[in-house]
Amino acid sequence: MASDEFQPLQGMADLGPPEVERWAAAEQEARRIFALYGCEEIRTPILERADLFIRSLGGETDVVQKEMYAFEDRGGRALALRPEGTAGVMRYVASKGQDAGDARLFYIGPMFRAERPQAGRRRQFHQIGAELIGAPHPAADAEAIALHAHLLSGWGLQQCRIRINSRGLPEERAAIQSAFRERLLPHRDALCEDCRRRMEANVLRVLDCKNPACQAILADIPPLTDFMSAAARAYLDDVIRHLEALELPIERSPNLVRGLDYYLHTVWEITHPALGAQDALAGGGRYRLQFGGRAVEGVGFAVGVERVMMALEQERPANTAERLPLVWLIAHGTAALAENMRLLQTLRRHQLAARMCLDERSVKAQFRAADRARASHVVVRGETEIQKGVFLLKNLATGEQEEVDMPELMRRLSALRLHEKT
Ligand code: AMP
Repeated sequence: MASDEFQPLQGMADLGPPEVERWAAAEQEARRIFALYGCEEIRTPILERADLFIRSLGGETDVVQKEMYAFEDRGGRALALRPEGTAGVMRYVASKGQDAGDARLFYIGPMFRAERPQAGRRRQFHQIGAELIGAPHPAADAEAIALHAHLLSGWGLQQCRIRINSRGLPEERAAIQSAFRERLLPHRDALCEDCRRRMEANVLRVLDCKNPACQAILADIPPLTDFMSAAARAYLDDVIRHLEALELPIERSPNLVRGLDYYLHTVWEITHPALGAQDALAGGGRYRLQFGGRAVEGVGFAVGVERVMMALEQERPANTAERLPLVWLIAHGTAALAENMRLLQTLRRHQLAARMCLDERSVKAQFRAADRARASHVVVRGETEIQKGVFLLKNLATGEQEEVDMPELMRRLSALRLHEKT
């Protein structure tokens, strides 16, 4: 077998133990924090009609133009693997009509974008996101950002930067773009080739350009908010005032646009220094979408889980030597093996995770297996122990070892119980 047959597709990754434990712990923490804000979980399909994303994100956006995994099924229907979570959630909300009026929903799951893979950028990646449904009010935007920040601090990330801007109102978008294009026009020839193209197709994307020559030109152009209505600027000021009242440190970022068409008013991005070139940890904003004459509005965000894990690894490196709440039974001789199989069940009935080697190996090999599984304790039994009705309990973290009877064994292991039966 060629060695790459063992590998997942480019840009996709297997997630095995012990990494999965960190992910599961982060998801559990997210669920706890979402509950504090009254958010309920939603799971929408991974596969949707391609049109859902084309209409919601915008046909001219990079995600739709270059990155979407779109294909026709056997019936000739145009389908796509979801590149983001908001469109599917909004489709669901539109299907519920009034019943979803003030819904607060969160999701956890995989997204797909056919991007060029690099550190922190994958073709299958995972997002944790939330959507607070409802018409625009600055208090709701501030609450969404507060929830977003709470999530990141709940995970133990302390070095995040939150940058905020406005996209203005949908009805003034064309005017904002043409005013901005007009200011750029005299500098057209000094812009990079990509930006000259962006000037035609999607002029605000020039603001994202990392090229120093383009950045120098942008430095002389007024911030985007100067091209917006007074109402749009006042909305952003209000959101920032609410955030200040909540003592959330936030930076105005006049060049922040975020790539998707559905945004209006507030957009924000959260970066982390551990991430290098792909430093966006999460992004959010307010949006409005139309479904068959029904407008759905909300404010929400998505966090990239892979990037959260990279940032966490830097701020709080995982202790890979950490042992699990697992008891490993070691048998000395065939009779002990049968006895240990019964003991396994007894331990599990007491909510203790337990394993053993289900074959006959030397005691040394059984200890090695316990260690590989990162068990925290082993219980060794041979004929003598069985006859005396005792157990040799060893704590693998400390190396301490002692002979105990059954009630004492249970007492010693009680701290490892997965949960108490009520
Ligand atoms: P976006 O929907 O593009 O605003 O993405 C929100 C977050 O998802 C980003 O801040 C990243 O953390 C994460 N993300 C987006 N695209 C990728 C990707 N290709 N690989 C890994 N993470 C991604």
